[in-house]
Amino acid sequence: MASRHREDAVLVIGLGRFGSTLAETLQGLGHHVVAVDSNHDLVQRWSGKLTHVVEADATSEEVMRQLGAHEFRQAVVAIGTGIEASVLATGVLLDLSVAEVWSKAITREHGRILERIGVNHVVYPERDAGERVAHLLTGRLIDFLELDDNYAIAKLRAPRAICGRALEKTALRSRYGITIVGAKKPGGEFTHAEAGTVLDVGDLVVIAGRPDRVESFAAEIGGS
Ligand code: ADP
Repeated sequence: MASRHREDAVLVIGLGRFGSTLAETLQGLGHHVVAVDSNHDLVQRWSGKLTHVVEADATSEEVMRQLGAHEFRQAVVAIGTGIEASVLATGVLLDLSVAEVWSKAITREHGRILERIGVNHVVYPERDAGERVAHLLTGRLIDFLELDDNYAIAKLRAPRAICGRALEKTALRSRYGITIVGAKKPGGEFTHAEAGTVLDVGDLVVIAGRPDRVESFAAEIGGS
């Protein structure tokens, strides 16, 4: 298989909405992608867009070995709805010693089973998207990403209350527990924020801090 010796090759199992988007994006970024799905119609549909699409049952170790799955360093199991198939396919990849296996889970219980059999990363696309949209809906945030339980970054319009003077004069860290990481003028590009950076109304800023502090900062002075 073409994956041999290619460090950047990624094996993607399942061409549903998540798996196909992942495979297409990886390929667009220049990675070598081999996608596997057991559904004949889906394989046909994607074979025009993805370079390597294979129709196969990923729960069979024999089939996956023949495909050369053991030669990949990274694989993603993007089967969510069929928990049994997801767990079996993940187990096959782990047994074949794929170094880094990522699997999509639909529920927390599904994720726990995957963790118990030794998967390296569990991804919860629906849960993560739901959380993110909740933050966007309730606040003044234009974008929000929780990197860890204790750390998030967000994009918002520069609140008027902190415009017109150098960031070091705003005491944002002590008052709100957040840091301005970057800023962008209308039509410009994001640049790193520094102590002397002066924001103007209309600028966009990226802030970082604890998720609740990011939220309260945006809620308290975001509209001012
Ligand atoms: P999404 O919610 O992202 O659309 P799904 O869980 O609905 O994802 O899609 C899973 C995909 O995985 C489907 O295209 C399905 O054909 C494929 N799939 C399910 N079981 C297997 C299997 N044993 N081997 C290979 N592909 C499978």
